[in-house]
Amino acid sequence: MDGTQILTLGLGLEAPWVLKDQHLDTSVSPHRLDLYVEAERGSLYPCPECGKACPAHDFADKTWRHLNFFQHHCYLHARVPRTQCPEHGVKRIEVPWARPGSDFTLLFEQAAMSLVKEMPVLAVSRQLEISDKRLWRIVHHYVGRMLGDLDLSRVTTVGVDETASRRGHCYVTVFLDMQRKQEPVLFAVPGHGKDAIKAFRAFLADHGGDPDNVVEVVCDMSQAFLSGVAQHLPNAEVTVDWFHIVQTFTKALDEVRKKERREKGHPKALRWAVLKSLDNGNLTAKQIAALQELVADRGATADAWVIKEKLRWIQQAPTPRAARWRITNYLNVMREAVTGQALLKPMAKALTTLERHAEQVVRRWMSGLTNARLEGMNGLFQAARSRARGYRNEANFIAMIYLIGSPVGRMLDHTKSI
Ligand SMILES: [Zn+2]
Repeated sequence: MDGTQILTLGLGLEAPWVLKDQHLDTSVSPHRLDLYVEAERGSLYPCPECGKACPAHDFADKTWRHLNFFQHHCYLHARVPRTQCPEHGVKRIEVPWARPGSDFTLLFEQAAMSLVKEMPVLAVSRQLEISDKRLWRIVHHYVGRMLGDLDLSRVTTVGVDETASRRGHCYVTVFLDMQRKQEPVLFAVPGHGKDAIKAFRAFLADHGGDPDNVVEVVCDMSQAFLSGVAQHLPNAEVTVDWFHIVQTFTKALDEVRKKERREKGHPKALRWAVLKSLDNGNLTAKQIAALQELVADRGATADAWVIKEKLRWIQQAPTPRAARWRITNYLNVMREAVTGQALLKPMAKALTTLERHAEQVVRRWMSGLTNARLEGMNGLFQAARSRARGYRNEANFIAMIYLIGSPVGRMLDHTKSI
């Protein structure tokens, strides 16, 4: 067996294609191996439309980057014919080793995609010695193709969350299948609120799903989401995720802390005795010690912290009825505590938000959906962000969310190559 035969086998070339010539150039850096593939003279080629064997009309020279040959870059060259079909006219044929329009062989792209699943795109582009821009183009092609094959016909329960794709500027809204533990991501779209829900409805319908089958949506308390759900997923009951309640109060607490630090005001402390009546002993000793220490400084931040911490008492309610009762009592006591306290205004706002969505919060006790799912999304967003680093825009960030968090990554493992 000579070198040409070995390379032909290695390339997996089949008739009519044969390796005609090879050239290893070690005078350039990096060294390169050029392989010249041709079809036997007089070969017939399948018409891309009907598959009928047709003669060539003319040829165009094309080049593809292939997997490295040892440490050398490898390029495949071929004269690609256009067929002359009696029915369909003159058409450029598809070669078996590359997809139309790509400058890379399928094997190269497959290698690139398996690396992209494991490490940041920028690192992969350095390793493969191609620009990250070209690598992203490959990523978008395969993610898009896999997305096209997604079957969403069984989706009934959806979680919605949003995240900033770049520091605070652009938002990406992500939809999850709440019934799928692995690879829960269904859809990710730039923007947020009502438009995102509308886009999800269209995506669902395009992938065999029925927006009317969505009976449950878990989301945060933003009015934009809620009105979007009401309009575009009309049969869905909304459950406000517990994670978002805690997030709302934590944000409010942070506002209070910043404001107090800025103004150095001296607000009246929250009455600890009042709060004490709610204490059912569920706090750990460490938490109680920290709480007491914080409350001892008698500042607004301490009061706000207590208000946030006492949410736990609601969370631990054993039944929907108990939850409803606890929310009412919590609101009564905390309202009294924040009344007339200028620095605690953010907490008063958070309390109003909880009050307005009390029934949607209570649904959490009835729907049986765990709240950990959306909270876990932060880890996914972090991972996607770091993988997409270096060439960051919404589309790249979203492609990474799909690769890491949806079935797309696994589907890629089963794609065929030459
Ligand atoms: Zn034809």
